[in-house]
Amino acid sequence: MNQFQYVRPTKAQAAIEAVAKDPNARFIAGGTNLVDLMKRGITAPQKLVDINRLPLKQIEHQGSSLRLGALALNSVVANDTQVRERHPLLALALNAGASPQLRNMATVGGNMLQRTRCTYFYDLSMPCNKRQPGTGCGALEGINRMHAIFGHSEQCIAVHPSDMSVALVALDATVQVSGPRGSRSIPFADLHRLPGTTPERDTNLEPGELITAVDVPDSPFTKHVHYQKVRERASYAFALVSAAVALDIENGIIKAARLALGGVAHKPWRLTAAEQVLVGQPATEETFRRVAAVAMQGAKAFKHNEYKLRLAPNALIQALKTAAAA
Ligand code: SF4
Repeated sequence: MNQFQYVRPTKAQAAIEAVAKDPNARFIAGGTNLVDLMKRGITAPQKLVDINRLPLKQIEHQGSSLRLGALALNSVVANDTQVRERHPLLALALNAGASPQLRNMATVGGNMLQRTRCTYFYDLSMPCNKRQPGTGCGALEGINRMHAIFGHSEQCIAVHPSDMSVALVALDATVQVSGPRGSRSIPFADLHRLPGTTPERDTNLEPGELITAVDVPDSPFTKHVHYQKVRERASYAFALVSAAVALDIENGIIKAARLALGGVAHKPWRLTAAEQVLVGQPATEETFRRVAAVAMQGAKAFKHNEYKLRLAPNALIQALKTAAAA
C-alpha cells in the first residue's frame, strides 16, 4: 500500500498552500473518484488535503446568480428547492448521474473534476497518454465504443464523464477558484480542456487552485428543459450520449435556447451554432431535426463508436421534443 500524509485544514488558504507547495499533494472531498484512482494505482499522491472542514457547502442566491458551494453534495443540490425552481435542468442532470449512494458523497467541485472512465486509462498494462504522457493511446486502435466524436486529438479520444457539467455548461455557469495567486472566475465552458497534445491536463486550473463555488446565472429556462441520458444500464452507468436542453418558448416560437451534449468529447460539448438556429423558429420536430444536423457538423467517429453519429442527434431531438412539451 502507498503511504500518504493526510491533513484536514479548516482554512481555505492553508489548504491551498498545502497543495501549491507540494506537486504530490491532492485535494480530497467526497473521494468518489480519487480513492478509486488510488486503489487502482492510477495515481499515488503523497499527501491528501481533506477540504471537508472548509465552509463551502452553501446554496444561496446572490445578486443575479445561484451560488453552489464546491462542497455542496450532489444529492443536496439536486433536491434543493431553489435549484429545482430556478435551474430544473441542473437537478435533472444531477439525478441522472451515478447512484443515490454516490450522490450522497460526491461534491459539486469533485463532480466537475472527475476523470475520464476510458478503460485504457484505468488499465495499467495499456498505453495511455493521459495517465503517462508519451506512451500512446490504447483506445485509438482499441475498443473505442465509449469514446469521443468531437474535439479529439491523435493523442487522446477520451470523453468527460460528468452529467452535472453538461447542464452547467448549457446554463452559462461560472466557476469560482482560489489559488496561490488569488481568486479568479472561469466561465464553465473554459474550465475543461480538449486533449490536443496535453491530454494529461483535464482542466485549465493552475497547480494549487481550489474550486470554491459555481455560480449559475438567473435565466428564463425554468420550464422547458430536459436532460436526456442514454446509457447501458438504467440503474447506474456513464452516458453513452446525453443531451441538455433549455428553451424559452413564447406562443410556440423559441425566443432563446441552450444546448449541450455529454459523452461525446473531452469536455462538456456546448452547441452554440445549433442554439442560434433555434432562435425565432417554431418549436416543431422539423425545426429540431434541422438543428440536430447543425449540431453534428464536424463529428468524426472511430471504428467502434460510429453509432454515436446517429445516437447523439436522436438524443438531442428527443430532449428538444420533451423540453418543448414540458
Ligand atoms: Fe488514455 Fe485518452 Fe487514449 Fe483513453 S483515450 S487511452 S485516456 S490517451
